[in-house]
Amino acid sequence: MKDGVCPKCQGTAILQGLRVLDRAHGKTEDLTVAAYAKPDAWVFKGEVRGELWACVCGACGFTELYATNLDALVRATVEGQGKPAPDA
Ligand SMILES: [Zn+2]
Repeated sequence: MKDGVCPKCQGTAILQGLRVLDRAHGKTEDLTVAAYAKPDAWVFKGEVRGELWACVCGACGFTELYATNLDALVRATVEGQGKPAPDA
């Protein structure tokens, strides 16, 4: 949908870069995903976060989510799964 065409209705009124809000615990934050480089550690799990943003179709409302901080998320995920980083 980043290409500007909705895969559901073929609409072209695509809203890019919308924030995805989490209003839990009395505050408003961007919704995030998290990867852990050391998931088995007691503390310091090597958490890496990426904020989510959305593309929304202005015709039918279909929504896609995208994460930021992709390089760091990939590295943490690969490390956490015990594999060498792609370019290490
Ligand atoms: Zn649509």
